[in-house]
Formats: sequence, C-alpha cells, structure tokens
Amino acid sequence: MIRTVAIIGASLAGARAAETLRARGFDGRVLLIGEEPWLPYQRPPLSKDYLWPGGDESAILLRPADWYEANRIEARLGVKAESLDLRAREVRLSDGSDVQADAFLLATGSRPRRLPALEGAANVHYLRTRDDAARLAGALTPGARILVVGMGVIGAEVAATATRAGARVVAVEPAPTPMLRSFGSVAGAWLARAHAERGVEAHFGRMPERFEREGGLVRGVTLDGGERLDCDAVVVGIGVEPA
Ligand code: ADP
Repeated sequence: MIRTVAIIGASLAGARAAETLRARGFDGRVLLIGEEPWLPYQRPPLSKDYLWPGGDESAILLRPADWYEANRIEARLGVKAESLDLRAREVRLSDGSDVQADAFLLATGSRPRRLPALEGAANVHYLRTRDDAARLAGALTPGARILVVGMGVIGAEVAATATRAGARVVAVEPAPTPMLRSFGSVAGAWLARAHAERGVEAHFGRMPERFEREGGLVRGVTLDGGERLDCDAVVVGIGVEPA
C-alpha cells in the first residue's frame, strides 16, 4: 500500500510525475524534494530570453505556485537528498531531517560536465540553473570577450544570445560543426555560417590546450592548433553527467 510518494528532484521529470500521480487519482501524500530554491521551471529559456534583461521570471514556471497547494504537492525546496535507506524507507536531507515514504522516485537529472583546468576561476560559467543564468547574464555586456568552450546546444545558444547582447564571442569546438550531436552535419554547417555572419569567431576541429590564468581569472586559451584567444569570461558547455 503506497500512502506517501517522495519525489527526489524538483525539475521537469519530478514535477510531471507529481502531476501524473494526481491526474491518475493518487490521493496520498506527495513530497517534491528539490535542491534548488525554486519551484520547477523550464530550462530551455535559460540560454535564450532569460539571459536577456526584462525576461518574465514567472513565465518559466512549469506550474504557478498555487497549483502545488491546490493539488496538495508538498514542495521541500533548497534541500538536497543525501542518502536513501531503503530498509527504513527513509531519505536523509541536507538540513538534517529525514523523510519517510512508501515509494521514492529518483528524478535528479544531470549536471554540467566540468573542466578541471578551470576550477576555482571566478569568470567561468556553466549553464544549468536559474542561478547560473542570472550570473551569466551579468557577464554578457557590450564589448566583453566571451570564450565559449564547446559549441553544442549550450555553447551555440549562448553564443547567439551573447552576440545579440553586444558581446564578442570566440569559441572552440573539437567537432567540425556546432550542435553536431543534436542536428547532424548539414544543419551544423548552416548554423556555423549563421554564427560566422553574426561575428562569432569559432574554431572547429580544435581542442583547448592550455588556459592562461591571472589573478583568479581565466584570461585566454591556446588551442591545439596553436591559436591564442583572449577572453573576459568563459562559458563551458561540454555536455552533462548524471546527478
Ligand atoms: P551541452 O548540453 O553541454 O551543450 P552537447 O552534447 O550538446 O552538450 O554539446 C557538447 C559539445 O562540447 C560537443 O559539441 C562536444 O564536441 C564539445 N566538447 C566536449 N568536450 C570538449 C572539450 N574538452 N573542449 C571543448 N569542447 C568539448
């Protein structure tokens, strides 16, 4: 008999699961546990209009706040699940509390893969959360030189948004085109031209070889073809790993 379901991860999968439980008539307790302080929101806008001043914050919520109340979804936000004891049917949270449930759904998603060579530098950005986007938006100022590492989905979208904001984008991507994994080489080649026409200086078929750091900041990179690129900030979009 399932009376309480604890959903660990308050993003798209977690929120849709809570919704579906209610839609199918589950009447018990539903707990939605999330590490971020926000109610579930859509991530795709974070690399687009959300990086742009004046973006409507509430527009990205998957459901308005009162929906959770009306559907008796208990959101526990800003806490991380740290361990799961299946025998005791208990999940331990980062605030020290334990949550008991009859069933657990792990919907923790993914996090950006990080580049060890850039750890600790203050001007390095990854993009996954609202907080990441808010911080990155502050770096996309007119004239700033933004180094994009990886021209996949994140890199290509940030390159476009940064260019629109008046920043100057230099990029390095080992594959021959942007977004090759998602779109293939024909659309990739078209996208490469579209970026070039807008002033993005992308180096394809190249890997970053050595980053130059100065006073806690990354100031540039040398590529494996010998090219040297200067930067004021770095955006890394080299894929994700399971969280
Ligand atoms: P994301 O969601 O981060 O954009 P994608 O898989 O769409 O993920 O794109 C990741 C891109 O990063 C790919 O185009 C891949 O070739 C590139 N990439 C992977 N590792 C590196 C690296 N060390 N340096 C530069 N680019 C990388």
